[in-house]
Amino acid sequence: MKIKSAEFVMSNSDVAKCPKSMLPEYAFIGRSNVGKSSLINMLTSRKSLAKTSGRPGKTQLINHFLINKNWHLVDLPGYGYARVSKSAKKTFQKFITQYFSLREQLVTAFVLVDIRHKPQPIDLEFMQWLGEHDIPFSIIFTKADKLKPKAIERHIAEYEAVLLEFWEAMPNYFVTSSSKDIGKDDVLDYIEQLNDNMQQETF
Ligand code: GDP
Repeated sequence: MKIKSAEFVMSNSDVAKCPKSMLPEYAFIGRSNVGKSSLINMLTSRKSLAKTSGRPGKTQLINHFLINKNWHLVDLPGYGYARVSKSAKKTFQKFITQYFSLREQLVTAFVLVDIRHKPQPIDLEFMQWLGEHDIPFSIIFTKADKLKPKAIERHIAEYEAVLLEFWEAMPNYFVTSSSKDIGKDDVLDYIEQLNDNMQQETF
């Protein structure tokens, strides 16, 4: 898919106020600092569509972007920031739970994971939660430029081994690097394919 246009639509702290349009929607979420803003900027070929996080954990907003006038890219807040209080964590959980429970337009979520790290409980728990709520998701491994190809393979195999303890199959996944422009077409083509499938179902 070629990105012809990418526009900021709105930021919300309340899912009820998100765009009413029924355009297909794709949500990006992951731990703070995972490289989500950089990935969104890479996917849309815009230098600063998503703001790279100066103060992680502070901006808890649902950000909608309209892409090619026919789908929404949603930038969700980063989770797992160690220095936020317990009550902030609770508010965050409610907010995310509401987004995923109420947003009918959501086609799939992309859960971002830093490829360098061992599987983290917070990410695994979040994927588990998505699975329990029948919310489709793919994993996007970020920062692949930081590892050599063999190490990438090893880290993915390790991730798969952990996931297969709870899942029957490894979820769909992508390997990306925003610094080296890796994985962009794979993610965009996947979104395009899902958009096309949905159109076919409608007609
Ligand atoms: P966010 O908090 O998830 O939105 O993460 P950012 O996009 O702000 O990135 C966090 C940090 O990781 C920044 O210092 C980025 O420069 C760096 N970063 C993001 N993506 C990549 C990548 O693909 N490769 C490398 N080497 N660094 C990255």
